[in-house]
Amino acid sequence: MPLVIPVFIPHEGCPHRCVFCNQRRISGRAGGPVRAGDVARIVVTWLERAGERAGDDVQVAFYGGSFTALAPARQAELLGAVSPFLASGRVGSLRLSTRPDAVDHGRIALLKQYRVTLVELGVQSMDDTVLARAGRGHDSRAVHCAVRLLRRASLRVGLQLLPGLPGESRRSLMRTVAQVIALRPDIVRIYPALVLEGSALARMYRQGQYRPLTLAGAVARVAWMKRRLDGAGIRVVRMGLQAGPDLEQGLVAGPWHPAFGELVASRLMLRRTRRLLARVPAGKRAVLSIASRDQSLFRGQRSANIRRLAALGLADRFMLRLDPGQPRFTVRCLGLGGAES
Ligand code: SF4
Repeated sequence: MPLVIPVFIPHEGCPHRCVFCNQRRISGRAGGPVRAGDVARIVVTWLERAGERAGDDVQVAFYGGSFTALAPARQAELLGAVSPFLASGRVGSLRLSTRPDAVDHGRIALLKQYRVTLVELGVQSMDDTVLARAGRGHDSRAVHCAVRLLRRASLRVGLQLLPGLPGESRRSLMRTVAQVIALRPDIVRIYPALVLEGSALARMYRQGQYRPLTLAGAVARVAWMKRRLDGAGIRVVRMGLQAGPDLEQGLVAGPWHPAFGELVASRLMLRRTRRLLARVPAGKRAVLSIASRDQSLFRGQRSANIRRLAALGLADRFMLRLDPGQPRFTVRCLGLGGAES
């Protein structure tokens, strides 16, 4: 994983506020707009901490706004501040996030000129009803169009999804994931919708017009999404927002957990274990293997997975081996061992 140097531009370029969004809470960044000198200082500070890391191992990322909706001169100011670090080889690549309806040939040409390699689109949902209720101001066609243009320009594409928005049903989430798979993004990030102070969603929640997903419901949904995307060979690089004091203080409701991604990974390990154990003949025990670092994920939060296996009568049906060389988040069956005790 490269070292990512984040530069936050909260809400810059956004034509309006989407109902769920409060980037100042998410990024924890207050104050005026970041200037070119600030960008250079942020990069230098991170590089000093990074020691020998350089080149492809270091990436600068502009987050938190609608980058390509900024005026071209402002985009050039921010991107140009990174150019000397790219030229010297201390930074290997540059990425940014933006709205799907702010991507066209002219904007892409500017990004190419400043050596941007990856563009992340805030997609949230591919259901036009959900997008309308979220106040996005664009439909799912804008996503298709943006991905096509970025691909033609040989830019890498990331898509950000937000399950749990108002009006989303299981069926619309399934359609969203199917369309995302068809778009073949290079990476996907999944952030379950949270109710943040200062957002329109907080007002809707207080007026009883919106009910967020429960934590268990969000883990189940995101686990299903991850399984589908993994199965299609699409990398999910993040699940759940990064923890931070501003986010936690500004959280009104919703499926927040500081280690949300681990909850999902743990649930998927339980699922895989159950499937493997379902094939074990009566009276036998399976020898299961996991990566050494996955012991706590396998057990689950407060041993929830072990308790679930016990409740299903499966806790005695396996022996567990730890393999330091096994890929993380996997469970393998090495064969059958002795009779169950
Ligand atoms: S979701 Fe994106 S476009 Fe909407 S307000 Fe937030 S940063 Fe701006």
